Amino acid sequence: MYDILLKNATIITLNPAREILADHSLAIKDGKIAEILPAAELQEADAREVIAGEGRYVFPGLINTHNHLFQSLIKGLGDDNVLSDWLVKAMFPSAANLTAEDAYYGAMVGSLDGLHSGTTTVLDYMHANPEPGVADGVVKAFGKLGIRGILARGYMDNGFEYGTPRELAEKTEDIEKDCQRLFSAYHNQQQGRIKVWIAPGAVWLSTKDSLLMSKRLAEEYNSKIAVHISETPFDREATEKLHGSSDIDVLEELEILGPDVLMVHCVYLTDRDIRMARYFNAGVSHNPVSNMYLSSGVAPIPEMVSNGLNVGLATDGAASNNTNNMLEVMKITALLHKVDKLDPTVITAEKVLEMATIDAAKALGMADEIGSLEKGKKADLFLFNPQKTATATPLHNPVSTLVYSSSPQNVETVVVDGEIVIKDNELLKADEKNVLKKAQKIAEDLSERAGTKYLRNREWRSLSY
Ligand SMILES: [Zn+2]
Repeated sequence: MYDILLKNATIITLNPAREILADHSLAIKDGKIAEILPAAELQEADAREVIAGEGRYVFPGLINTHNHLFQSLIKGLGDDNVLSDWLVKAMFPSAANLTAEDAYYGAMVGSLDGLHSGTTTVLDYMHANPEPGVADGVVKAFGKLGIRGILARGYMDNGFEYGTPRELAEKTEDIEKDCQRLFSAYHNQQQGRIKVWIAPGAVWLSTKDSLLMSKRLAEEYNSKIAVHISETPFDREATEKLHGSSDIDVLEELEILGPDVLMVHCVYLTDRDIRMARYFNAGVSHNPVSNMYLSSGVAPIPEMVSNGLNVGLATDGAASNNTNNMLEVMKITALLHKVDKLDPTVITAEKVLEMATIDAAKALGMADEIGSLEKGKKADLFLFNPQKTATATPLHNPVSTLVYSSSPQNVETVVVDGEIVIKDNELLKADEKNVLKKAQKIAEDLSERAGTKYLRNREWRSLSY
């Protein structure tokens, strides 16, 4: 007896042969994909729950390789500002006033937004730890919603002369203690659905001691490191001034650079950096919407891909996106690189889907478990129904429609770790209306405490030339 039988759908597998299987059924047992077979062969199979797949397309769950979920509470407050103003006006005061309850509701509303766009795995780079227990709020939300979650415990302990806010910095030994506590409490918990990583804020935001501590902890707990790399020219400059060489060189000198490192943004990598990252097989997280929103620049993604780097996609925090919608990220990834190179052939819908699924899984070191629909892998997937919207109809090619013509309304059913989390567009794990209502209230209260209320009631700003 199977747990779930998805009957008679078209399955976009993302397997090594990139097969698209029409009239197939997919059976799920104990959280894993038990079979993918022609529909006729599973016609009589027994299952506790049968989902009709006619007219639907089954995709591997999307993987969001970088988020700051608490920022879902401050979306829109920092609009149309340069990065330094965005940080000082909106981000830092909100982060400094964050409570564990805020972090929980931020992660609830952000993860929900992600789930509705087909996201089944999210890495939360939790860089705001103004009081103990805030990171725990994120894990609690992962548990409640049933999403696959990586809590990357962020920190900063350096770079004060370059603007690191004192109220958000921590002592290296305190960071280590809290990371050890989080690893022991949550790493590989909930059937392995929850993972804990460590996340230095940026190379210049970290002392060499804390970078080495991160490496030691990642090794000790069989975990990984996520770190913002060369998002802006300022990042490179600050790192060079503080550590004597550029981001990737520092990581290499400290023997940190390797497959257990996820490098986030990488907008200003040089050709040499790209070759080094490939040599050491480090993963990359690409955040095009955030890079556009903050005008950081265009990351050299076609160059990274052609050099063989594993590049995954991400939303970044909703304070610089301003959603957690991975469908949008896929479309914008394609459009950004086409216009940047003035060449529509430089990136394809198929490549973008790979970057949101199997390539992201490789970048996270999780390709054995997730990123494609294959027998034995975790059952993380969503059913796409084009007939729910005029936007997605007519469908000629499912990959094209998903990347260029889709919306969350088409993401009808979402399964994570073999459990149905969203069915017929309805969240099963919590009362969505209540979550949204509460998130609105929590966000308003945080704005009050953080002194950002004036940003909510901002004046009308038309451009004047
Ligand atoms: Zn970030």
